[in-house]
Amino acid sequence: MSRRVSIFGATGSVGQNTVDLIGRDPDAYDVVVLTGAGNIKQLAEDAIRLRADMAVTADEARLDELRAALAGSGVEAAAGEAALLEAADRPADWIMSAIVGAAGLAPGFRALRHGTTLALANKESLVTAGPLLLAEARANGAEILPVDSEHSAVFQGLVGEDIAAVERIIITASGGGLRDWPVEALASATPEDAGAHPNWDMGQRITIDSASMFNKAMELIETKEFFGVPAAKIEAVIHPQSIVHALVGFVDGALMAHLGAPDMRHAIGYALHHPDRRHLPVSRIDLAQIATLEFYAPCDIRYPALKIARAVMETGGKAGCIFNAAKETALDGFLAGRIGFMDMSGIVEGTLDAISSKTSLSIAPNTLEDVLNTDHMARDMAWAQIEQHQT
Ligand code: NDP
Repeated sequence: MSRRVSIFGATGSVGQNTVDLIGRDPDAYDVVVLTGAGNIKQLAEDAIRLRADMAVTADEARLDELRAALAGSGVEAAAGEAALLEAADRPADWIMSAIVGAAGLAPGFRALRHGTTLALANKESLVTAGPLLLAEARANGAEILPVDSEHSAVFQGLVGEDIAAVERIIITASGGGLRDWPVEALASATPEDAGAHPNWDMGQRITIDSASMFNKAMELIETKEFFGVPAAKIEAVIHPQSIVHALVGFVDGALMAHLGAPDMRHAIGYALHHPDRRHLPVSRIDLAQIATLEFYAPCDIRYPALKIARAVMETGGKAGCIFNAAKETALDGFLAGRIGFMDMSGIVEGTLDAISSKTSLSIAPNTLEDVLNTDHMARDMAWAQIEQHQT
């Protein structure tokens, strides 16, 4: 019997890799919903090619365009936030959560409510609402499978292991597109400079987050939330080749590493076929050809985001939600030319400080609505920080 699958964020970088894997074996899947936002052409093309039941754009103003692009295909069209939630209600066995940003949160929660297996690429879900998301999955007997390559690597390293025997988790970082720049030059980096990645082909926002290591900071928090391991046991190390994605260290001193080509179809494919392993169309590693794998500790001056993430992990509660919202807003400010590359961490720290002077950060949000309210409040505060920065 075909598996019913939906892809949220199908037109993005992770989404397109998922479309690629599913499109290679069309008879094995019954595609329920594909979603996108601005890229209507891609959304419609893939929905028709994969014979999806429905295509949804998050942008209500583009509904007519989507309808026109799907005319005569039999694929249903819908638009807007409510339509995204309704799409998550459509029965499916497996859903890819690959919308970028906090917009990915609500559809993921909705899918879990139905007990659907959630392949989670959307980092923001765990960082902003980790305990709530995991509780929702538990309450409904739903499984969450990590798709971020580092977390997929840790997840694979833990198969058959007792989490109590884990002494440390090490996630690797490429160091991003600016890793060889002199620290003094970073303040003048433009979005184009920071948006070029040496190893991975990803969306623009995550590529810039990789250069600033806000991406790794998010992943440290994700690791703590998903695996329930204390912050002190989680480390990040720079590994320029991006071949080792993560390592799990055990109490007997053994360190198990996960190696793979830097291709998201590894982690997506693992989540798609879990618990089986199937052939994947990714390049194989030739260790003799690679010859050298380098590792070195990240510098806090170059990557202040990591230090902020440590404080966020220690605080818990709503700190992750504020961190994510402030980080997204700071990135908007950087992309708009309102602040410099190295100012982003100051905006995030300033936002956390400003909110902590009014309320205790360690009190966790109780509901998804609480999370979204905290997210909005933190974005407003972060914008205020950006305005102040300019005057
Ligand atoms: P992209 O920017 O490439 O794609 C984002 C997707 O979300 C697109 O389908 C986009 O539609 C859609 N989208 C954008 N805004 C909204 C919105 N407001 N509401 C609903 N949908 C929206 O992102 P990535 O694929 O790079 O990343 C997706 C998620 O996965 C992120 O959380 C990222 O951190 C995470 N991730 C990404 C990895 C990667 O390799 N890229 C690796 C691991 C995790 P459209 O394009 O049509 O506008």
